[in-house]
Amino acid sequence: MEFDLVVLNGTLHQAHGSQPGDIGVRDGEIVEVVPAGILAGRSAGRVIEAAGLDVIPGCIDPHVHLDLKISDAITTCDDFESGSRAAACGGITTLIDFATPEPGETLQQAHDAWLARADGNSLVDYAWHMCLTDDSHLHQIDEMLRLGIPTFKEFMIYEERGLRSDDGRILETLRMMKQLGGMLLLHAESPEVLDHLVATRHDRELMQRYGARLHAMTRPDYVEAEAVQRAILWSEVTGGPLYLVHLSTARSADLIEAARKRGVPVTGETCPQYLVLDDSVFEREEDGHVFASCPQVKKPGDSERLWAALEAAGSAHEILSTVGTDTCSFTRAQKDTWGGDFTKIPMGLPGLDTMVPIMYTHGVQTGRLTMNQLVSLCSTNAANLMGLGDRKGSLQAGYDADIVIIDPEHKKAVDWRSLQSRCDWSPYQGMELGGFAKMTIARGRVVVDEYEVVEEGEAVGCGEFLRRKGRG
Ligand SMILES: [Zn+2]
Repeated sequence: MEFDLVVLNGTLHQAHGSQPGDIGVRDGEIVEVVPAGILAGRSAGRVIEAAGLDVIPGCIDPHVHLDLKISDAITTCDDFESGSRAAACGGITTLIDFATPEPGETLQQAHDAWLARADGNSLVDYAWHMCLTDDSHLHQIDEMLRLGIPTFKEFMIYEERGLRSDDGRILETLRMMKQLGGMLLLHAESPEVLDHLVATRHDRELMQRYGARLHAMTRPDYVEAEAVQRAILWSEVTGGPLYLVHLSTARSADLIEAARKRGVPVTGETCPQYLVLDDSVFEREEDGHVFASCPQVKKPGDSERLWAALEAAGSAHEILSTVGTDTCSFTRAQKDTWGGDFTKIPMGLPGLDTMVPIMYTHGVQTGRLTMNQLVSLCSTNAANLMGLGDRKGSLQAGYDADIVIIDPEHKKAVDWRSLQSRCDWSPYQGMELGGFAKMTIARGRVVVDEYEVVEEGEAVGCGEFLRRKGRG
């Protein structure tokens, strides 16, 4: 056999253009990408006819939390097994989680703990950013770079969970990122203003009156924007590359646009929930609280501005570079442990099944984004930023055979019962979406076929840990 598989006559979409083409795959790699019709008749283990279908490089979710324990009683309901199945059905073939040291642990220990969670359980490839939660971790950064982990994460909030970095540590980390060739991912929210707003509204009467709405009322947009502008300054004065995660506000898009114009090495990520949901969800009497996430979804004007920021993708004036899910799934029973107290809601949403479908339906099919921009935002940019640009994020010879095939005519109403996430609800329940993966090929293996996970044989647990490269 010349090829393990060939994909024929698809419309191949890359970050920089689209054309009809054929793809030949051997030993998990793309070995040929040629104009349509050229590979027809060549010998292949499997021939996949893709005429009339969109073919894109496997998408990369740079922001997931799987198998994450948030308290003694509560661990996310999705782990690498269910999360990677959801990813595959949603056209995502690379997951980047966040390894988080327990108090007193080294980065190496956190890395080992995350390997134990993922190894043999994931249908798609995986990696993790390393969370820096203690000053001693700064001395372990170069060791992580040698292990193939060039991206680090700090939090400006979550003092109570032992995760908070103060501005001194953030500044120092950015300096080291510049020096050592890494990148800092930052959860930017203003801890003092947020804690103040929460503390002064954490009151029985108010909770009875406003319920889950207090979650949004205590987290106005300036909680994020103040922190974003501060972090941008630290990036500017150190020259340390900064990637602001899960941006949810118009103000943040404005700040990043202005900073990038003056050459600050900052970029940002947003998430589908901030693009298609708004904080009216918290008004749902029965179950508004299930939508609680951190940051929470904001106002329609924020979504509007974030879409406009994404429309600049691929231009010289790019503002936001990536879309990630910030998957952090909790069941209704887990969410219900809040008992009416907005400070006790497990915060987070599922999203791996639906990220690419939302971007395809609300971005491409409405004409806001081109397919090339979708590929940039959901695959190529993340590959380049996260140190995978020499093997992921593009359909070209020598790259991993991560290939997703989408039928532009296929649409379905989201129903959590038919998704792979273990969540017993979906933030997008009932939404009509196209863009689900008709077929997903992960390093040459078909892992989704006709919208179903391929259960048998060598595909199960075939995902591998990806060693990534720093900026050199
Ligand atoms: Zn997150």
